Amino acid sequence: MSSPVQPGCQFASDNTAGYCPEAWASLEQANAGTVPSYGDDRWTARACELIREVFEHDAEIFFSFNGTAANSLALAAMCQSYHSILCHEVSHVETDECGAPEFFSNGTKLLLLQGERAKLGADAIHRAVERRRDIHFPKPRVVSVTQATELSTVYSVGELAAVRDACSRHGLRLHMDGARFANAIAALGVPPRSVTWEVGVDVLCFGGTKNGMGMGEAIVFFNRDLADEFAWRCKQAGQLCSKMRYLAAPWVGLLENGAWLANAVRANAAAARLEAGLALIPGVEILGKREANAVFAKLTPAYAAALRAIGWKFYDFIGAGGCRFMCSWATTDADVDTFLADARATAGGMNGEGKSES
Ligand SMILES: *Cc1c(COP(=O)(O)O)cnc(C)c1O
Repeated sequence: MSSPVQPGCQFASDNTAGYCPEAWASLEQANAGTVPSYGDDRWTARACELIREVFEHDAEIFFSFNGTAANSLALAAMCQSYHSILCHEVSHVETDECGAPEFFSNGTKLLLLQGERAKLGADAIHRAVERRRDIHFPKPRVVSVTQATELSTVYSVGELAAVRDACSRHGLRLHMDGARFANAIAALGVPPRSVTWEVGVDVLCFGGTKNGMGMGEAIVFFNRDLADEFAWRCKQAGQLCSKMRYLAAPWVGLLENGAWLANAVRANAAAARLEAGLALIPGVEILGKREANAVFAKLTPAYAAALRAIGWKFYDFIGAGGCRFMCSWATTDADVDTFLADARATAGGMNGEGKSES
């Protein structure tokens, strides 16, 4: 029998979960003995080898402690300070990195684009480039897309090919924030290469943290020329881990037997279960089409407050205009079902007050 679920932060974020067993086991193995430092160890070599296998590409790979650093340093490597980066207005690089992409690139400007459900389309890219081409405007150089997006949608292979075509047409490089890349692959069921280097992605920030590690992202340069001197950039930014085995070993656990994908499949399935349950509750409106591991739903403030009073934690998500319920590899059916039972009971007790007013 499983232990009863306590209301808590299960749905607040996918970074509320711990290490998954596979990542933890290889971390424990890597803890034994002394090994060379600064990435000259066999764990780092193995992690890089596995990432190359997953992507079927001889990419250049670096590890950072978190995603803000991965994105910011990758973007800095793709631009000069007088360039600009085209990204969606709700993208993490714009809304959640405290200006780090601009800071680490010495002032490269983010240009914000709009697009359905947090995705960029070729037209928006084209218009942004065509709007100004003169010397007084920061020259567009990079497009940054997020896969899966901040709104739990996923770019299809075709949508990315259209982005790639717009990039080629305008001489733009393509960066992918893949903090939830595994969830996108789980949703799409395509090989990782087909949504990365095959559609022109130059650099992918491949997320480990939300996929089942305690910390760590991999910066994967499919365009190896862009990796020139990147090691120095990491070191200067305080992102070179001296005991690199601790950043690298969890990747070995995640990738060696496919735990990375199994974790993402589980997280997405938990979100699907949650979404299906919420959709049946009067007073809850599901927002948008979910493809990855987050559900967005509109609840009245009183209803959301009542759920929070029970102990459930979840964020209001400005870009979506509702509440975000994020699932992780660790979200169990029991977590989902307990939450849904509370949500149903709370909705029933609201005497109609919980119903969406619009
Ligand atoms: C979580 C996340 C990141 C990384 O955030 P850090 O807190 O810096 O690790 C990057 N991009 C997206 C879309 C994210 O959700």
